[in-house]
Amino acid sequence: MTGHVPEWLGRYAASLLPVFGTPQTVLSHGQGCYVVDVDGKRYLDLLAGIAVNTLGHGHPALVDAVTKQASQLVHVSNFFTSQPQVELAEALLRIAEAPAGSAVFFANSGTEAIEAAVKLSRRTGRGTIIAAENAFHGRTTGALALTWKPAYREPFEPLIGRILHVPFDDEAALRAAVASAGDDLAAVVLEPIQGEGGVIPSSAAYLRLARELTTAAGALLILDEIQTGMGRTGHWFAHQSRGIRPDAMTLAKGLAGGVPIGALVTFGAQVTGLLGAGQHGSTFGGNPLACAAGLAVVETIESDGLLAHARAMGEHLVVAVDAVGHPLVDGVRGEGLLRAIALTRPVAPAAMTAAREAGFLVNAVAPDALRLAPPLVVTAEELDTFVAALPGILDAAGAGE
Ligand SMILES: *Cc1c(COP(=O)(O)O)cnc(C)c1O
Repeated sequence: MTGHVPEWLGRYAASLLPVFGTPQTVLSHGQGCYVVDVDGKRYLDLLAGIAVNTLGHGHPALVDAVTKQASQLVHVSNFFTSQPQVELAEALLRIAEAPAGSAVFFANSGTEAIEAAVKLSRRTGRGTIIAAENAFHGRTTGALALTWKPAYREPFEPLIGRILHVPFDDEAALRAAVASAGDDLAAVVLEPIQGEGGVIPSSAAYLRLARELTTAAGALLILDEIQTGMGRTGHWFAHQSRGIRPDAMTLAKGLAGGVPIGALVTFGAQVTGLLGAGQHGSTFGGNPLACAAGLAVVETIESDGLLAHARAMGEHLVVAVDAVGHPLVDGVRGEGLLRAIALTRPVAPAAMTAAREAGFLVNAVAPDALRLAPPLVVTAEELDTFVAALPGILDAAGAGE
């Protein structure tokens, strides 16, 4: 093997904790929806750092915001606040259509946003949390207890207790679990579309039932919009297209376009009032650099009409992939630009490799599903180059079986 990639991967293996396995390549730089590795190979980035690089790479609005903020203040601690922090909180409450008394807590990652939500739920004085099978909520020990995959969870048990996992999008199972939790039900925590679980949308009826059952039980409905939020589905938040409002939601991934950030949004004064002074905190959370990046993301989505664009590009992708008519394609699921190409056979890992060799970054989110979560700025022409290459990619994946 020649080139810089093997050399860097060797150094990686000798210096990093091997929790991620071997990285696929070593990236150097990017522009728009393209990234380039250290050997100069160029890829169309249809994964966007797992739904993170909302504006793609090197977007001038994000570069300018981060550069300008870095020259002013990077960090101030939460003994102080900053204009970007207040402005981003206000912007999130506005786009979430949050009622008076709503509020934002800033963290640095998705899992921390979930930890804040778990602590919020404990302040109801109750202890049982219902989560879904195949859910992914993060890797810190509280969020891990809500995460479904036994291989992620079991090596670290005991985790926090009183978590009931129910089949996702199953109304009868949710009713039964809420009834069995009784007076101890603190919260129901759901992803509107399960992301790591394979891009599996919930129905509007299911989320409405979750809303009704939690309200009747005096428990919180907490939606994990870490992957589905910030325009990813063509709406600011996926729950908005389902006609309900949660008591709290968690955000991270795309919120600051790649700068680490997380957030918990509490809806209404009663829920906001559950956490008081001294009951939660974070050194880095809400620092001016991350918040300036978040503001640039919100402002660019608005000024460039990226919600409508995400919906249109998502539809374009569905129509184009369906028109390919490849025998391995079983259809496209998801919403907006959070999509999975369902395959008729479990060849997604091989298809991911074949796609990468052909110059496209996608992700085998399940053995039989390829996830696409491109930057919201992706164009129809860029998507078309992938669709044109798809038959060859799938032929290679199928042949390797
Ligand atoms: C990625 C993700 C998380 C965890 O976010 P981290 O920033 O990796 O901690 C939690 N929930 C959902 C739905 C996610 O997609």
